[in-house]
Amino acid sequence: MTVIDIHCHTAGIGAGGSGCFISPRMRKSWKYRFYLSSFGVTDTELQREGDGLVLQRVSEGLAASTRVQAAVVLALDGVVDSRGELDRERTELYIPNEFLADQCRRYPNLLFGASVNPLRPDALERLSAAAEAGAVLVKWLPSIQGTDPADRRLVPFYRRLAELGLPLLTHTGREESFTGADNALADPARLRLPLEEGVTVIAAHCASSGTSGGERNRERILPLFAAYPNLYADISALTQVNRLGHLQWALGHRELHDRLLYGTDMPLPATGLTSPWFHLFSLGLSTARRLAAIRNPWDQDVALKLALGMPEAMLQNAARLLRID
Ligand SMILES: [Zn+2]
Repeated sequence: MTVIDIHCHTAGIGAGGSGCFISPRMRKSWKYRFYLSSFGVTDTELQREGDGLVLQRVSEGLAASTRVQAAVVLALDGVVDSRGELDRERTELYIPNEFLADQCRRYPNLLFGASVNPLRPDALERLSAAAEAGAVLVKWLPSIQGTDPADRRLVPFYRRLAELGLPLLTHTGREESFTGADNALADPARLRLPLEEGVTVIAAHCASSGTSGGERNRERILPLFAAYPNLYADISALTQVNRLGHLQWALGHRELHDRLLYGTDMPLPATGLTSPWFHLFSLGLSTARRLAAIRNPWDQDVALKLALGMPEAMLQNAARLLRID
C-alpha cells in the first residue's frame, strides 16, 4: 500500500501567472527565505521559472524517497473581508486551488489538498469544484484564515463536506509559521461542531502545542477522540525542536494508533527545525548519527519517527483513510 505524507506545503509568489500571493511583510521575513531554500528553490528561480517549480521539486524529492510514495500538497485560501472578498491586506500567503489542482495533475505522486475559506459567499460551490478537480481533502488554518470552526453559520459547509466525503484537515494548537495568529481559533474543542455534522476531521499536529481555557490543547483533544470515531490527527511537526516529546506523548496513547496519520509538514523538516540531533537523549549517539546521514527529508523523517516508536503500520493509515492504494 502507498505511504502518503498527508501534510505537505508549497509556496508561491505569483510567478508564471499562478495566482499565488504572499504579503510584502511575509516575503521580507527570514521565514520565507528559509522556506524557499528548504524546497530547494530561490526567489530569483521562481521569478524566472514560475511557482510550479516548487511542485516539481517536491515531486522529485518524493520520487527519490525510498519510504514515502506520495504527498497531499496543500492549497491555502486567504482571509475574507466583510463583503466576502479575498482580503489581501490581511492575507499573508495564498495558494489558489485552481493552480494547485493543475500542478498536481502533472505529477502522479502529488495529491491535491484544496483550501476553501467557509466565509466566502460561494464556499459551497468552491467545495464542489475542488472535489470535481480531484481534491482528496480540504485544509484549514483557522488561526490564520480568521475562521472559527465552532461558528454555526458553517453548518451547510460541513454538510457539503460530509456529502462529498472530503476530510477536513485543520490546524490545531499554537501556530508559529506566520507573522501573526489568533490561536484561540485552533482550540481542538471547537471541532465538536464539524464532528457532530459527520465530517471526517483530521486535527493537524494532534493539538500538540499551546493551551486553551487553561488546559493543554493535547489534553483537550483526548475526550473528542473517545466521543467521535470520525476524528483523526496527523503526526506532522511533532518531532520539531519546539515540540520535543510530543510524538512520544501521542504514541503513548495506543488507542489512537489507528487514527494517527503520517505527515511531515514539509518543508519544515528540511528547514533545520527538525533534526535527529534534537532527539539525542531518546535515540543515543549512534542512531542519531545514522539518521542524520539520511539525505532525503522524507526518508529521514520516517526513520526518525520509527526510531522514536512509531509503528510501521501507522504509515499506511493515510492511504486507507483516503482510499488510495
Ligand atoms: Zn502545516
